[in-house]
Amino acid sequence: MRFPLALTAKIARHIIKHKLRRTPKFALVLQLEPLHTCNLTCTGCGRIREYSTSLKDMVPLENCLQAAMDCDAPMVSICGGEPLIYPKIEELVAGLLEQKRIIYICTNGMFMRKKMRDYLAAIYHSSNPSHESYLTRLLAGNLITEKEAEAIRHADAAAHSKVVIRPTQWMYWNVHVDGLEFTHDLIVEREGVFKECVAAIKMAKILGFQTATNTTVYKETEVQELEDMFGFLSSLNVDGHTISPGYEYDAAKKDMVKRLGRQPEDFFLTRKMTRQKFAKIQEWGEKFTIFGTPVYQEFLAGKRELTCTAWAIPTYNVKGWKAPCYLMTDGHYDGYQEMLAKVQWDKYGVVDGVARDPRCENCMVHCGYDPSGALGTNYQRGDNWKNFKYNFGAKPKPYYAGRNVQAFNGVSIGKGHLAPAAAALKSAGLTQEGADSEFYIRQMQQTGASLNHVNGGCGNGDTSQRDELLAKIGANKDA
Ligand code: SF4
Ligand code: SF4
Repeated sequence: MRFPLALTAKIARHIIKHKLRRTPKFALVLQLEPLHTCNLTCTGCGRIREYSTSLKDMVPLENCLQAAMDCDAPMVSICGGEPLIYPKIEELVAGLLEQKRIIYICTNGMFMRKKMRDYLAAIYHSSNPSHESYLTRLLAGNLITEKEAEAIRHADAAAHSKVVIRPTQWMYWNVHVDGLEFTHDLIVEREGVFKECVAAIKMAKILGFQTATNTTVYKETEVQELEDMFGFLSSLNVDGHTISPGYEYDAAKKDMVKRLGRQPEDFFLTRKMTRQKFAKIQEWGEKFTIFGTPVYQEFLAGKRELTCTAWAIPTYNVKGWKAPCYLMTDGHYDGYQEMLAKVQWDKYGVVDGVARDPRCENCMVHCGYDPSGALGTNYQRGDNWKNFKYNFGAKPKPYYAGRNVQAFNGVSIGKGHLAPAAAALKSAGLTQEGADSEFYIRQMQQTGASLNHVNGGCGNGDTSQRDELLAKIGANKDA
């Protein structure tokens, strides 16, 4: 099965229960954003820009858990910001598991290995041969250092009693990967991130964690590269993938124009372009473990229309329940039911090709339309069977030919996008490392985060120094 049976059954039960009760609107997935702070400043990310004035704010743990109870979605996607920066992330995961929900931790992957070392330190016992065998395999794969292995072996009582994130079939690491090395590092505006994501995925698989990836497709994303990326990830035994077209939401659009001097249409997809990019999505769905419904895939490929059901994937964050959807903000509400009652849902979406709101015109994102496929809006005969067959059918086998993909086609082979900028800095008597650490420390000072706490940097959307580097790259590209 594409998804473990217990999880598929849980979601199916939830939908059937509400259908029988004729509940007009209900939640399937909660997008929980405990904070908006992030260690990266990805091009196209509206979150760190839209909430740039509240980056230091966090949703208290009890409010996060209450939000999940409030909407009662069977799945919770913990996102942000970077959720692994949230100081109570372990307690949040534990609390949601206690509520018997399916959890996705949507992460950029940079702190995953640290969290998994914490897990190892908590469980390690020298008399258990499987624990030492984990360390041996991780050392052999260069996924931990000798020093880290020693720290795990000699973990103290505090490390043993720490609440940690443990492998369970109810939880997935959901790693953000937007392409192969060059593309991904360019989009996240930092070299080495792809490499770290791959290392984290490998470590997670060795330790028995379920691991998925999520990909946003932009105008510049090459279809062949997406296919290569799925092949490569599948060869790493990644358990599944979500994929969604990029959306030109206001905050990202403004940022694009101001910071990068780009026009939104240079970067984001129109509906027509989305359909071209996703023409092969059904074929990919057969070959790779793409999550979602075949009905949504038909919509992406331009074979049918769907009506937006953004209320089924609500977002809760530092300001409350965000309406109408994950992307657009017309208001925040204190409760999920209050939001359902007060928002005029028929003002949004695209019906029969006509946008009810101009901002929805090019939107085909999964958080607006994937649930529509599961909930039977725009139902066509055979849809239920199609969805059932896809999700209860056999999981595609790992695609081992993907090992031949040249995934490390960027900084690993000296083709990093910051290389020209580094050369320019060097000629000015500076080093890349110096520039990077200065950038990093400045970010830390601005967010008030501690160096030890985030172990690798924490962005707040002010990327002026990075922009200087990017501007130099742009100049080099144009030369
Ligand atoms: S990892 Fe990138 S896309 Fe995700 S919140 Fe951070 S900046 Fe945004
Ligand atoms: S179509 Fe739906 S998900 Fe997309 S922007 Fe409009 S309200 Fe949001």
